[in-house]
Amino acid sequence: MTEFELIQRYFAAQSAPRADVALGVGDDTAVLRPPPGEELAVTTDTLIEGRHFPRDTAPGDVGWKALAVNLSDLAAMGAQPRWFVLALTLEPSRAHDAWLAAFAEGLARLAYETGVALVGGDTTRGALSITITALGTLPPGAALRRSGARVGDVVCVTGTLGDAALALRSASATAGDEYLRARLNRPAPRIEAGLALRGLANAAIDLSDGLAGDLRHILQASGVGAEIEIDTLPMSAAFARLHDPAERLRLQACGGDDYELCLCIPPDRLTQARTRLGALPLTEIGRIRGEPGLVWRDARGKPLNLDLHGYRHFGD
Ligand code: ADP
Ligand code: MG
Repeated sequence: MTEFELIQRYFAAQSAPRADVALGVGDDTAVLRPPPGEELAVTTDTLIEGRHFPRDTAPGDVGWKALAVNLSDLAAMGAQPRWFVLALTLEPSRAHDAWLAAFAEGLARLAYETGVALVGGDTTRGALSITITALGTLPPGAALRRSGARVGDVVCVTGTLGDAALALRSASATAGDEYLRARLNRPAPRIEAGLALRGLANAAIDLSDGLAGDLRHILQASGVGAEIEIDTLPMSAAFARLHDPAERLRLQACGGDDYELCLCIPPDRLTQARTRLGALPLTEIGRIRGEPGLVWRDARGKPLNLDLHGYRHFGD
């Protein structure tokens, strides 16, 4: 199979057709039609085997997740995802039908579910690595930035925290709980939530490296601090089966890969925010305050002496 046959067979028609694609896979570039007057939101993320996913991850899960992490970034900006390009580096041992078909199927499933179109890419030989660049659009000035948090805002998160980290931790120990494994391998980017909270949230970020690290990005960009009540961190029924409170906190605050949104919302907009989100839970976990830094408090309001941080790629 040549590179051209491979692209044709697995990637040329892997997504929903869109009227805003003038030219998709096959020419020197894609040609796209953003809605007149809107701003373009662009993001890119690479997944490396052994670093971003375990070596034994199913190829369909790799395909899904590579797209999901990019759509999650668009969601965190409140952008409407439209298109993506895929740079795929493969060892010859994986350029075979079983691996490619499963990878493309996982990728296409999420692309269809979210209505985004694969419009181009690049295919090369080497250690397995997947880079996706996703593009979306926004009305001018509507982006949910990290820098907009204000003193008094409620810090909220969508969904539940810690599931993906627990799945990763338990990967080799116990037969994996299906729900937790799906949270790790097939995260649902919170696109609808990001769109719904445009104009309501002052700041947003998606939780890819853990709450402790990602919330600090908002605090630094906004020049504020926050206090978080650890007992309010939302957990799933599957996660709640873990009984050790210290381990729960470690996974919920420092574990990554949940791809929920963390948002700062003025208190008087919280009811409207919840109404707009419908069935997706939005949990209040703390407040933005003027003093810089991140303070963790227990159920009685006592500050905890904790140095929690998120995942660091180049950290100590
Ligand atoms: P070029 O030599 O111009 O870089 P390529 O041979 O790399 O062209 O790609 C040919 C066409 O196939 C282009 O339209 C490119 O966007 C598309 N393409 C290449 N690899 C992929 C891929 N993995 N997924 C989707 N489209 C791809
Ligand atoms: Mg090329």
